[in-house]
Amino acid sequence: MITFHIITLFPESFESYLNASIVKRAQEDGYIALKYYNPRDFTIPGKKGRDMTYAERRVDSRPYGGGPGMIIEALPVIRAIDKAVGRKLKAQNAKLKTSGAITGKKNQKVKIIFFSPSGEMFTNGVADSFKRYKDIVMVCGRYEGIDARVKKAFPMVDISIGPYVLTGGELPAMIVIDAVTRRISGVLGDNQSIEENRTACPDVYTRPEVIEFKKKKYHVPKILLSGDHAKIEEWKKGRKM
Ligand code: SAH
Repeated sequence: MITFHIITLFPESFESYLNASIVKRAQEDGYIALKYYNPRDFTIPGKKGRDMTYAERRVDSRPYGGGPGMIIEALPVIRAIDKAVGRKLKAQNAKLKTSGAITGKKNQKVKIIFFSPSGEMFTNGVADSFKRYKDIVMVCGRYEGIDARVKKAFPMVDISIGPYVLTGGELPAMIVIDAVTRRISGVLGDNQSIEENRTACPDVYTRPEVIEFKKKKYHVPKILLSGDHAKIEEWKKGRKM
């Protein structure tokens, strides 16, 4: 089981997507678990913070060096990460020290991902490399991003989900959860559903054989009805971009 620990100011934005279809079933069947941590709950350590209203617990401040937008402060995020995996990281580090660097790498069970449009590009290969972890922390930025000192406090990888800039790291987190989850053996009923295990095709068809819309008829390509699997395979390869 992989537990995804999501550090986000907007946990409510995850509910509808992750509680539907295959990702929902993967949670019910115990392949994955999701936990949320709001940096707003970690603005002040100890009792003092509990007396403040939610709106008073500010997490953003103006950037040093100038520039537009607000920056999410480091400490609330650091405390949230610590709450999620602090103890596990400590145990992992102790194990690494005793087992040596090479065998030690295999013992790493905690991974922390920092979302950033200029990070390493997320691919199927990267998704596969994430599957071996037991705990994956995802740090979702907002506004102009998060104070970079969180990356000093914990080791983490910068990941980008594409060459465009979004308003927050919540969609990137959902994309990574979705892509990793469907690659866990057993999540999709048929392992052939993983695209690299077969000739996946961008054009697919289902019943009925002929459809009619505004007096025009649309047919399924004849080759798909031929039963000639070698030819169908070749046709699919030809459709690939
Ligand atoms: N000005 C910042 C971007 C801020 S976007 C910069 O140049 O790096 C706000 C947040 O959205 C980021 O902190 C990040 O968590 C998330 N984000 C936006 N686009 C992303 C992308 N393509 N991949 C991953 N995360 C992204």
